[in-house]
Amino acid sequence: PQKDELFTVSSPDVVYTDEHIRSKYVYRTTSVAKSSNGNYVATPKETNYDFQVDRKVGRVGMMLVGWGGNNGSTVTAGIIANGRGLVWDTREGKRAANYYGSVIMGSTVKLGTDESTSEEINVPFHNVLPMVHPNDLVIGGWDISGMSIADAMDRAQVLEPTLKSMVRKEMSYMKPLPSVYYPDFIAANQEDRADNVLQGNKACWEHVEQLRKDIREFKSANSLDKVIVLWTANTERFADIIPGVNDTADNLLQSIKTGHEEVSPSTVFSVACILEDTPFINGSPQNTFVPGAIELAERHNAFVGGDDFKSGQTKMKSALVDFLINAGIKLTSIASYNHLGNNDGKNLSSQKQFRSKEISKSNVVDDMVAANSVLYKKGEHPDHTVVIKYMPAVGDNKRALDEYYAEIFMGGHQTISIFNVCEDSLLASPLIIDLVVLAEVMTRIKWRVSGAEEYKGFHSVLSILSYMLKAPMTPPGTPVVNSLAKQRNALTNIFRACVGLQPESDMTLEHKLF
Ligand code: NAD
Repeated sequence: PQKDELFTVSSPDVVYTDEHIRSKYVYRTTSVAKSSNGNYVATPKETNYDFQVDRKVGRVGMMLVGWGGNNGSTVTAGIIANGRGLVWDTREGKRAANYYGSVIMGSTVKLGTDESTSEEINVPFHNVLPMVHPNDLVIGGWDISGMSIADAMDRAQVLEPTLKSMVRKEMSYMKPLPSVYYPDFIAANQEDRADNVLQGNKACWEHVEQLRKDIREFKSANSLDKVIVLWTANTERFADIIPGVNDTADNLLQSIKTGHEEVSPSTVFSVACILEDTPFINGSPQNTFVPGAIELAERHNAFVGGDDFKSGQTKMKSALVDFLINAGIKLTSIASYNHLGNNDGKNLSSQKQFRSKEISKSNVVDDMVAANSVLYKKGEHPDHTVVIKYMPAVGDNKRALDEYYAEIFMGGHQTISIFNVCEDSLLASPLIIDLVVLAEVMTRIKWRVSGAEEYKGFHSVLSILSYMLKAPMTPPGTPVVNSLAKQRNALTNIFRACVGLQPESDMTLEHKLF
């Protein structure tokens, strides 16, 4: 194995070369048809795929839009602290840097069973395929607020003073690049921090060119092989989808050139990244990826992913609802209430921006409900309400209160009440890391149906990132999966396929024969 590889796979279907890991993989699915008497007929189906993973990761940069925000400054400090192995004092004793909350850095995957003891062997997720270590990410980005990232870290009020003092010097040299600011898209209450902006208050081609230049310069100044850009800036209002304006790639490009007012800053960033062949991920709820942006990404084979980090309330929801419905319990309502006091909360106190969040938070149970035709009639749905209030005093310590109300056996009821309190940015930061590390891996995987001449990449829309995202985007016309467990399975099993390993089946038949 190479330096960072914990294991190799010994199989005639897996080949390691200096540059690549190649696997031949049999993908087994079940194809279903309806017979003339109305029954289903299920037929097992096999498709052979060849996967090829580039083993050379190279030097990777992460550019954050909204670098000076709570998430941007927190993830930066966290990566520096991990890179330096920092330990700091708190009133509860010493704390050391870690990557808790990151699937990639904090969780393991079952490799198999020990041949002699039959114990499970688990390996860190990070070692399943060659991946960049987050400590090695070179960080940069943009913000409409010109504060250094050290000052932004103070403004965020998230980290302990002892830790801040250890990373302050390095972060005081970090200054965000000026960004595009179209006041109509974020709350009016953000205006007083917008002191680091490119000229012009609506979309224009100069903005696209400037952002492309920023990416190229960051790449060459830091000798990077690739850059991933991630939007962790304020939630914007939704853009109207207007025929002739943003419905097709050509119309969108034309609308930017003519300065149409319905093109948002985040869409301008997405276009710049697509044209630079730089993966772009949207961590906020707005519809950055209007149909024209998706078409443009497909045209350029560029990667996009979104929308909206799935950090707290929704992550619990996509695990809990999956559990309840799969346990045969009929969930009848979900009431979700939040209050928070950080700048995100302030921005969301404005109706149009709140609406973006409300939309992204509301569809997260749809597929799980639709899949259970025993509990729910076609079109039937639990009631679902989402409330968000701005409460400055609690700062980044977001409160999320959820009530799940369900119908149980013989007309009884079950009420589950959850009160979730924690720093929002400490949940979002590891997700930023996961999204960036995964997006980078996806640039190095090629695959094909066995026998086809050419290897291809994954579809432009990276649905594999769904685990980290509240309203996951999928390739146009394909189903959305919200269940947290299914999302994690897709991720682990696709990575396993790349090294020729079967999906984790959890059958443990080796222990069950009498
Ligand atoms: P924040 O308000 O602290 O940070 C946002 C930053 O973006 C600010 O520094 C602001 O100046 C900057 N900004 C605004 N418009 C910009 C533009 N056009 N270009 C560049 N910079 C711009 O917010 P946060 O708490 O860091 O959250 C960031 C985003 O992530 C929000 O949209 C939030 O809804 C989303 N989100 C956060 C979480 C979480 O923290 N757990 C979860 C899901 C989604």
